[in-house]
Amino acid sequence: MIQADKFMEEKGVRPTAMRLLVFRFLAESKAAKTLSDIENTFAKADRTTLYRTLKTFEDKAIVHQIDDGTGMTKYALCEEGCNCELEQDLHLHFHCNNCKETVCLTEHKIPYINLPDGYVAEDANLVLKGICDKCSGQ
Ligand SMILES: [Zn+2]
Ligand SMILES: [Zn+2]
Ligand SMILES: [Zn+2]
Repeated sequence: MIQADKFMEEKGVRPTAMRLLVFRFLAESKAAKTLSDIENTFAKADRTTLYRTLKTFEDKAIVHQIDDGTGMTKYALCEEGCNCELEQDLHLHFHCNNCKETVCLTEHKIPYINLPDGYVAEDANLVLKGICDKCSGQ
């Protein structure tokens, strides 16, 4: 289990109570979470604060966004040492068609693509779809 306060301090983010709660919530879950998952979990918290917490986490490479094609942006914790940089940190994601959960495949980085002249890649989003280990029963 990642040490939340240490992880945040390394990224230059002050570990406030709210930040620690959101961080732990994401750390405890294998699957990526939507903003509404987070809002529902912390129903008593101010929505703006929650949104800002996620925004700060994103800016500081504590979480990354995943667009898995469901129309809902999901968030997952970054690995230690992640800078969310293309060709270094960005990895594949897996979306289960059955349980609709999306997980990070951090050991599978997005491969370098040699683009035609004049093209500059700024972001990449690669999602495999299928049946996860829980749903396939293996
Ligand atoms: Zn990252
Ligand atoms: Zn599944
Ligand atoms: Zn991920």
